[in-house]
Amino acid sequence: MTGPSLPERLAVVREGVADAARAAGRDARELTTIVVTKFHPASLIRELADLGVREVGESRHQEAQQKAAELAGLGLRWHFIGQLQSKKARQVRAYADVIHSVDRPGLVSALTSASTSEEPRVDCFIQVNLTDDPARGGVAPAGLEALATRLLTAPGLRLLGVMAIAPLGEEPRGAFARLRAASERLVSLAPDATAISAGMSHDYAAAIAEGATHLRIGSAITGNRPQHG
Ligand SMILES: *Cc1c(COP(=O)(O)O)cnc(C)c1O
Repeated sequence: MTGPSLPERLAVVREGVADAARAAGRDARELTTIVVTKFHPASLIRELADLGVREVGESRHQEAQQKAAELAGLGLRWHFIGQLQSKKARQVRAYADVIHSVDRPGLVSALTSASTSEEPRVDCFIQVNLTDDPARGGVAPAGLEALATRLLTAPGLRLLGVMAIAPLGEEPRGAFARLRAASERLVSLAPDATAISAGMSHDYAAAIAEGATHLRIGSAITGNRPQHG
């Protein structure tokens, strides 16, 4: 027995996104769907590109770097969505168009010092931690303004908005409402930083209802991730 094909799963998610946008009274054209391809081979990203996908998300540096090199020329936009070590910042900058996981001043510095005047600006989201566990990625909501102020004055970086992952064991809608509140605080400081990166395979409708603009959807489109050793 075979399940739905990649084009079928992509179509189902595109429809689901359009439905959720309609339900929220929003225009689906203001939403960017990033297909998260971590752990999958470059060949799958090629298939996605043939289906019209241009925005892809990866969470592990070495894997992302290899795929970006192998698939250069397909016109893809690479979104780095995983936790990022400062010592890897310069390398990630070299291929990532957007970094969703800026969460501390040290990382802003590392990304900044990597920039020379010839380098294009890299788009950034500040990741906000919606849990009480400081070990999870993201800045505590109370630290958002200070980090944003730092990022806004960093040469070579452009702040798009906030990003978060819904905590386990909680209704995602409430968590995304807290993210929206954080976004409103950010916009009062940085009027252009209106984007909200939120929503994964199982919670994107709730994220859209709370104003998400950038959805990071993996398994609902790609199928289950291969085992990784
Ligand atoms: C893996 C991942 C996703 C996608 O998760 P799915 O449940 O497969 O849709 C989104 N965001 C981040 C940060 C991830 O690591």
